[in-house]
Amino acid sequence: MSETRLQKYMADCGIASRRKCEELILGGMVKINDKVVTELGKKVNDKDVVKYNDEIIKPTAKKIYIALNKPVGYVSTVSDQFGRNTVINLVEDEIFTRLYPIGRLDYDTEGLILLTNDGEITYKLTHPKHNVYKTYIAVLNNVPQPNDIEKLKKGVYIEGKKTNPAKLNWIKDNIVEISISEGRNRQVRKMFAAVGYKVENLKRISIGNILLGNIPLGRWRHLTKAEISYLVNL
Ligand code: URA
Repeated sequence: MSETRLQKYMADCGIASRRKCEELILGGMVKINDKVVTELGKKVNDKDVVKYNDEIIKPTAKKIYIALNKPVGYVSTVSDQFGRNTVINLVEDEIFTRLYPIGRLDYDTEGLILLTNDGEITYKLTHPKHNVYKTYIAVLNNVPQPNDIEKLKKGVYIEGKKTNPAKLNWIKDNIVEISISEGRNRQVRKMFAAVGYKVENLKRISIGNILLGNIPLGRWRHLTKAEISYLVNL
């Protein structure tokens, strides 16, 4: 039988963020099987009846899909061992369901990242067989040579393994658009490094058909029905 900490259970019910739920528990607002609980570590199992404000609460099955514009200086994990800001911190005051980032954007990269509580979609989008192209705008330390662009299109070796063919568009000067279907660690930076360039600024502008658009930095929006059905049908 699965057991969940009370504050997580409450957050999964959409009551509030975990932190806020802890305050509600300490304030004596929560009962398990009709007994007030003020202990934070308390575990809840499938058979327990949990009440908040004397009303039974149950975890919501509602799936949530969010597109977030991640700023530089945030990690794309749920929590960070070094106490750095996470992408979840950017939504947790407004969305009280536990969300997970789909794939990663590194600490120094900004742009589109998807968050969801739908584990199946996370699995699909991060699985290589689905071949979803993610597009980035890279600002390089130098204007790229056409032959280097060609090398990147064909694939370059990083850590002894060749990258899949990439799509590249030179935009102007030292700015390049690159689309890749894999998600290896710091892949775009390493690909440019393999042909002699440093990426000075990197921004993800799309994941498959889902576009960053004009979401302000650090803000987010819910995906549209069409975007969700695109993900579900991948
Ligand atoms: N490539 C990178 O170098 N960093 C990312 O975050 C994603 C792709």
